[in-house]
Parts: sequence; C-alpha cells; structure tokens
Amino acid sequence: MKFASFSHKGSIHIGVVDDAAGRVRPVSGVTGMVDLIARYDQIKSSLKSDGADIALSDVKLLAPIAAPARNIICVGKNYGEHAREFSNSGFEAGAVKGAEIDEYPAVFSKGPNTVVGPYDDVRLHAHITSSVDYEVELALVIGKGGRDISKADAYRHIFGYTIVNDVTARDRQKNHKQWFLGKTLDTFCPMGPWITTSDELDPENLDVKCWVNGELRQNANTSDLIFDIPSLVSTISAGMALVPGDIIATGTPAGVGIGFNPPKFLKSGDVVAMEISNIGRIENKFV
Ligand code: MG
Repeated sequence: MKFASFSHKGSIHIGVVDDAAGRVRPVSGVTGMVDLIARYDQIKSSLKSDGADIALSDVKLLAPIAAPARNIICVGKNYGEHAREFSNSGFEAGAVKGAEIDEYPAVFSKGPNTVVGPYDDVRLHAHITSSVDYEVELALVIGKGGRDISKADAYRHIFGYTIVNDVTARDRQKNHKQWFLGKTLDTFCPMGPWITTSDELDPENLDVKCWVNGELRQNANTSDLIFDIPSLVSTISAGMALVPGDIIATGTPAGVGIGFNPPKFLKSGDVVAMEISNIGRIENKFV
C-alpha cells in the first residue's frame, strides 16, 4: 500500500494511493498518519474508505508525516563514493585523508520545522548561507516502536519507506563542526510523495536518483549502503526508544553539489527532482 497525506477542498486526509491510476482514496477512522502507523496491525484489514476516490491531480500532496513531525534522524557518509567526495570537498570539518569511511555511522537530526511537502518550495536562506546543496535519500518510517532493537528484528519495526531531500547548507555544516545547524534550516526536509509499506519493496535494492534542472546528478542503488538498514535501526535504537512515525534517512550517494569542482550549489529558481523505485518522485523549487 501507498499512504499519502493530502489536502482537498480545505481539509486534510490520509489516503491510499493507486499510483498507476493516478487516484487516491481517503481512509476514515484515523486522526492522522502517525495514528494510522501506530495502529496499523489492528486496523489494516478493516481500513474503510471515506468517500469516493479522487484524482491525484486534484489534491495537494503533503509531507506524509506532517508537522509536528516525529524525530527525523539522518545518517551521514553512508555510501563510499559520497564519503570520499565529501571528505575531498573541503567542507567536512576534521576530514582525514585515507579515513573517509567511518567505523561507526555518523548520525544527526533535523528539526521539525524542516519538513515540507513533496512539491513545496524550499527556501535558500541567502542571508545566512551561500552553499545550499541537495541530498536524495531513502528514508524509513518506524512502525512498531522499541528500544535496543536487534538487527534481526529491525525490519519488523519498519512501517514503510519514503523519499527525503536532506538539504544542507555546506558552509554552516563546515563552520559549526557539528552538522545540525547546516541541516535544520526551515524547509530543509522535503518529504514524500507518500509512504510505501514495507511489504511492497525490497529496501536493499532500490534505484535512487536526483536531477537538478533536468540534469541527472545522483544515480545509485541502496545495495551500496555502507551501514545497512538493520545496522542503522539497531545502532540508533540502542538506549533510545524509537516510536511510530520516527523517520531515519539512510544517507545520500555521490553526486551532490560539493562533489563537483567548482561546487554546484543551488540557486534561486533551481528545481530538484528525486525518484526512488517503488516509491515515487518529489520535486521542489528553491527560492
Ligand atoms: Mg544526508
């Protein structure tokens, strides 16, 4: 199933998407996406429609988990080629030549005000940064909460998957040494277009692509993750309870703006499109 959050005629709904038909069918009896995720095992066999289905072209898709979002936990340097391009770019504080691949995953978070919808504008914040960059990432959505989740149990805690653009102000990421300030500017987390449930895809074999103004910049497969999804869930949940709706973005592949010499930072009017197989596409204009 693909579950979307959307607005239609002034009200917000959760719906089941039929991507091929271009339709979405609202569901009733849930108060929002997190409520649906938290109770999914109990309600999935009896999910009822809340009226007739609607053309996707007649709705506004929202971030699948709307503000106030749950934890948005991100993993850095999780594809080898990207770890090397980042380390060599001059934008990684404390980079050490020959030690581009980390022994433990780099983990940080983005604040709740970063989240915007799959087709919303992203602000460049030109008064405080001149180096805004894109990062396409497969993001998993926690279904069943838990702490100290083992690798063997990890997939049982995942509700589904979505696309995240981990937008980054590279100068702030470098200057402040800790990544948070460069990652958490308002609108810096476009998300969507919906959540594809775990049973509908193989997260270890998904094509991940990103275009800037139609030019293909990132093109990889999640089989190349350095730290795989069970490792990430196990590492992040160690001593910290994950709850339904928490999001873990799994890292971006090579081809970001700082991978080029000179770097290709985003400018006003640029359109960044991202696709992951079996999920869909998001597209955001930078303003
Ligand atoms: Mg990232």
